[in-house]
Amino acid sequence: MKSFEKNIRKVEPYVPGEQPQKKVIKLNTNENPYPPAPGVERALKSMDMDRMRLYPDPTAGELVKALASYYHVDEDQVFVGVGSDDVLSMCFLTFFNSEKPIFFPDITYSFYKVWADLYRIPYECCPVDDNFRIVKEDYYRENGGVIFPNPNAPTGLYMELHDVEDIIARNQDVIVIIDEAYIDFAGKSALELIDKYENLIVVQTFSKARSMAGMRIGYAISNPLLIKYLNDAKYSFNSYTMNQAAIVAGVEAVKDRKYFEEGVCKIIKTRDWAKKELERIGFSCLDSRANFIFAAHPEYEAKELFELLKSKGIYVRYWGSDRIEQYMRITVGTKEEMEALISLLEGRML
Ligand code: PMP
Repeated sequence: MKSFEKNIRKVEPYVPGEQPQKKVIKLNTNENPYPPAPGVERALKSMDMDRMRLYPDPTAGELVKALASYYHVDEDQVFVGVGSDDVLSMCFLTFFNSEKPIFFPDITYSFYKVWADLYRIPYECCPVDDNFRIVKEDYYRENGGVIFPNPNAPTGLYMELHDVEDIIARNQDVIVIIDEAYIDFAGKSALELIDKYENLIVVQTFSKARSMAGMRIGYAISNPLLIKYLNDAKYSFNSYTMNQAAIVAGVEAVKDRKYFEEGVCKIIKTRDWAKKELERIGFSCLDSRANFIFAAHPEYEAKELFELLKSKGIYVRYWGSDRIEQYMRITVGTKEEMEALISLLEGRML
């Protein structure tokens, strides 16, 4: 080993789902099967090229303003970043600096562990119960901060807002981050608690319900003090995180509420239909409130089904990790894509 090796920050990176370059039915990374709002394409096509030449507005002010007005909060309550991954990573860096461990569920978004390792944050995973539900009482102990997604990933299970509130209320000495990447497909958001709890940060994304995973836009909403701390960390890292095209496209997407709501309805309808179909052919599915279904079959190995689907050009996500080795996570695509998936699986089961 070279002597410089000992000073290198070594991390085990997050492994994202595959992005195949050929045409497949892609149900592996929870993207939206429909295009972004029509105004987004128009706005990008008519973008002033001079804005490309110049550095973007470091505050991404237009996008912050659009989000503030959409959510009826002040502009100094909004922080934007390059996807919610960027926002969450900034939150870890900024708010999780205690010697005490931060808490998150054992089955959850696997990036949390990676950021904790990267920033040398101690952490403790609280096991979800046998039904994969988060046990709120596990979070009522001393800790250095709390983060969990609602709905949780990859289970898709939604925690009712009064239970989320209990966790926030019992942890007022630390920061609690609710990662609401999938909230638009679920139920009530913790955004309505922002004014009530000074320790709360809600993080959301344009990647799922707004069909813009490729543009990389995420945001946090909180009180002005915590947003200031986030901005201070961001400006100490990279001033120009949001590129000009993302700012323009993001502003346009927020304007079209009708398109957004119709898209969400379509996905929920397809999800509920696909879940019933999967159950008809013997799968057990968790009660997903997200744009994906977490499913296991009692008689077939998830790994085998995952590989069979892949060989036929249908990509889903499979981890094979502890407690979830029998599960596949299937993103909700169009009705036609889900029909193709179900007919292939049914063929295997005959
Ligand atoms: N949180 C959760 C729970 C997720 O599943 C994802 C998607 N991988 C993200 C955050 C990050 O999404 P994005 O960076 O595209 O906003």
